[in-house]
Amino acid sequence: MAQDMDTHDTDVLIIGAGPAGLIAARTLHSAHQQFVLVDRERTPGLSKPCGGFIPSRGLKEFDIGPIDGQHEINRIRLKFRDADMVTVRFDEPTGVNIRRETLAETLLASLPEHRRLLGKSVTKVDVKNGRCVVSLDDCSTRETLTSKLIIDASGVNPVSQRFVPVRQRPANSQMGYAIQYHLKRSSEFEGTNDFFYGGEYSPKGYAWCFPCHDTAVVGTGGIVDRVRASERKVEEYLTNLIQNVEPLKSELRDAEIVRKESALMPLGGIITPSYGRRILLTGDAACHCSPISGEGIYYSMIGGEEAARTAIDSLNKNDFSDKQLAQYERHWRKRMGSDLKWGLYLQERFTDESSTSSSSDFLSSDSTYRTVAEMLVGVRSVRSAILKVAPSYLRSKIGL
Ligand SMILES: Cc1cc2nc3c(=O)[nH]c(=O)nc-3n(C[C@H](O)[C@H](O)[C@H](O)COP(=O)(O)OP(=O)(O)OC[C@H]3O[C@@H](n4cnc5c(N)ncnc54)[C@H](O)[C@@H]3O)c2cc1C
Repeated sequence: MAQDMDTHDTDVLIIGAGPAGLIAARTLHSAHQQFVLVDRERTPGLSKPCGGFIPSRGLKEFDIGPIDGQHEINRIRLKFRDADMVTVRFDEPTGVNIRRETLAETLLASLPEHRRLLGKSVTKVDVKNGRCVVSLDDCSTRETLTSKLIIDASGVNPVSQRFVPVRQRPANSQMGYAIQYHLKRSSEFEGTNDFFYGGEYSPKGYAWCFPCHDTAVVGTGGIVDRVRASERKVEEYLTNLIQNVEPLKSELRDAEIVRKESALMPLGGIITPSYGRRILLTGDAACHCSPISGEGIYYSMIGGEEAARTAIDSLNKNDFSDKQLAQYERHWRKRMGSDLKWGLYLQERFTDESSTSSSSDFLSSDSTYRTVAEMLVGVRSVRSAILKVAPSYLRSKIGL
């Protein structure tokens, strides 16, 4: 490790080089602030379980791309219970499927070497005497890093919360559990992302197939409580999807499973507080993830940007009080709170098998399917999708 003072004592320590931490780092770097970005992986993103879909709005808003090896998506196939699969085509690509390590590499490229500490794990966090004190471990050495503020972007189980909790751990009813397989075949897949909702494909959650050139990531999952209560194992849903459900059965016939993985994802909508005691939680650590699709890359980037903006303002004012940090939550809620809130509302309608209002009730027309597809790929907000289908569904079902 370089004997640069920055690496031992810095203004902002960012834990985690996922989308949230990387955008936070890029924002601080553009504002000429002192920070260090730490990740336990030498190649961040390499082992991160993810479908890898980034909506075009995310790429535009954060001026990213093109990303090496990106796979453009211009078709969505939707399957809801009690309904046929419907294909929605778009004139323009609605986003890209990428490999997570390539996304990280692209964003890391804009950061100077001395701002990154890769391959070092944060093992302890403390906040005392007006400083954040963090222990780092890389198997062979241990060191201490101090900072004025921490942006904790270390994912769904944020490391800081083991030592300096600013909120309770989300309940199992607010967490999702997913498994996915990477299947490789000899030919390219088309630019189509698939979404399957209903009890045949998941433990009351949803399943997906997101291709990237010759490899498709096929996964399924649901809310942890429902996964535990399910009579079938999650692997059984996935095997059924791959082996018995068309069009995947035909499209994956000659494909070979090259990787299997599982992970948690936060699906509880708006979870607060996300700040306090000189810590800003962001990305999955702050549950910045769509409750309806598990999409979190775009929302994590928003969270990372807002965390960095609050950090800059706090450094300028030399004020790290909870009152000062509260602006962070106001700002991210303004940008994504509506999608998280209404996404949770729709999650229940799309996945609750006991509901009398089956999802297929309101997915009665092509234009409704298009609206839902536009929402899932980020072309329209969740609220605007609900309002658009309201005349045919919500008015009758929930009295709006
Ligand atoms: C199966 C699955 C499929 C998904 N598919 C999609 C999708 O297609 N599109 C989409 O938008 N979202 C998807 N998501 C969600 C998305 O992956 C997350 O929302 C997103 O990665 C969150 O970004 P983040 O930066 O908050 O955290 P992460 O991407 O999880 O990054 C956290 C980083 O912190 C590092 N870290 C953790 N602990 C420590 C520590 N103690 N010390 C140092 N470093 C540490 C990790 O190595 C990691 O690099 C999916 C999630 C899952 C589980």
